[in-house]
Amino acid sequence: MAELTTLYNPNLQTHGSTEKQKQETDLRHPLFEYSYPRARLKSRKSFRTVESVQPDQAASHRLELWNTWDNTTNEAIQLPKEQLPSGRELQRKDWVTLNRARAKVGKTASTMHKWKLRPNSECPCGNQNQTMDHILSECTEGPHYTDQDLRDCTDAAQAWITHWRDKI
Ligand SMILES: [Zn+2]
Repeated sequence: MAELTTLYNPNLQTHGSTEKQKQETDLRHPLFEYSYPRARLKSRKSFRTVESVQPDQAASHRLELWNTWDNTTNEAIQLPKEQLPSGRELQRKDWVTLNRARAKVGKTASTMHKWKLRPNSECPCGNQNQTMDHILSECTEGPHYTDQDLRDCTDAAQAWITHWRDKI
């Protein structure tokens, strides 16, 4: 699931950085040239503690931070960019199934067994362990596709979604 947070990550907000920039350079800023008292609470994150960033560079700075932070090797997830991944025009149920497949999570027999909601993790095809990887690339019960198909939401990915959306 952590991988889906690439859609939105509050740690990558740059508002504080642009505020710091204003405070340092704008004569009209109420805290211009103000010298701060020592912070009393470590838990408080004031904008004065962050690196300052020019407002017009905030978006590229945020993307840079995001690229540094995002170390996923999952090819099904798009590289950090401030747009929703492909497939956003799908119906909600299909969109959810697509994103479950991208993140490799879902109500597969293996997961349901782990949650004690199924007596075993068997797949209807006969495989002993129905994991997301199994139904994506091995299962004889449905179509297969690659991480690239998932990322680009190709016809192959949509055929897979149609087959599995009510099952996982
Ligand atoms: Zn199977």
